[in-house]
Amino acid sequence: MSSKIKKIAVLTSGGDSPGMNAAIRSVVRTCAYMKVDCIAIYRGYQGMIEGDFKSMDARSVNNIINKGGTILKSARCNDFRTPEGRKMAHDQLVKAGIDAFVVIGGDGSFTGAMIFNKEYDFPVIGIPGTIDNDIFGTTFTLGFDTALNTVVECIDKIRDTASSHNRLFFVEVMGRDVGHIALNAGVGAGAEEILIPEENLGLDRLLESLKRSKESGKSSSIVIVAEGDKSGKNVFELKEYVEEHLPIYDVRVSVLGHMQRGGAPSCFDRVLASRMGVKAVEALLEGKTSLMVGIQDNKITLTPIEKAIKGHTKIDKELIRVSEIMTT
Ligand code: ADP
Repeated sequence: MSSKIKKIAVLTSGGDSPGMNAAIRSVVRTCAYMKVDCIAIYRGYQGMIEGDFKSMDARSVNNIINKGGTILKSARCNDFRTPEGRKMAHDQLVKAGIDAFVVIGGDGSFTGAMIFNKEYDFPVIGIPGTIDNDIFGTTFTLGFDTALNTVVECIDKIRDTASSHNRLFFVEVMGRDVGHIALNAGVGAGAEEILIPEENLGLDRLLESLKRSKESGKSSSIVIVAEGDKSGKNVFELKEYVEEHLPIYDVRVSVLGHMQRGGAPSCFDRVLASRMGVKAVEALLEGKTSLMVGIQDNKITLTPIEKAIKGHTKIDKELIRVSEIMTT
């Protein structure tokens, strides 16, 4: 293939997610396959500004497909938010002969890439790497499936102790603005209630539901609470509220926290990462730019980065209905 793009860089930026390594591997191997040079940029945009680069070949990414986190490290970089910082980054890329880059990250990283592309007409493609699944233009982001599996595994364990002691557990999961993890993991783990930022069920409804649950003979209950739920109470305040209004319950709280980001990527995320990496490199070689790779209807797609950043993902109403039926 004859393309103006001869050297492609890859970086991970912002919050890490499982599957980032599989995506790095895919970008590096696709470059090798297409016979274009590949450069790794360490520590996100910070490493770009500092010229923290390393040449990669197909063997540089052996044995990483199964690893969580990112071998390239990630960083948050305030200098990249300034024109001066981006100028330094551009100078470093030009000095190293880099013609284009693939950034694996979330909407902040994409915003930086889009601004950079506009300022320097520099070819960029984004791969959505975030466990929150909150990026428009893709049904799944890299890491979401793995995070769900982690959460479900934890809830299964919590359920063992909950049922042994007839307890009610509030389990807080990640999701400040979106409830995709809470809703999917809640259905997958058979939670009695799921509190998400998109819907305010109200505290009365929660108490009602817990009362009914007890009366129907359930010996234990799990309530999943997304970080950003709209009850107006955090998970510890919810515990106090329920204990005060429903003293029949012995309530415990579990905050899953950062373990949701870690761990070996699921097979789904590895396959998705492999497909996205191939598409990202191919798009650059075809002269495309400022696009994000996504998956929709099981097809790999390209969406303008601007739309991906500005668009909003919607919670799956059908899944909310299913969860309501399941908790009967
Ligand atoms: P994520 O990509 O996971 O959403 P952040 O929001 O922290 O994570 O963004 C990652 C990095 O992207 C930031 O540290 C910064 O370097 C860059 N970035 C984010 N927003 C902008 C912006 N408005 N302009 C330039 N760079 C940005």
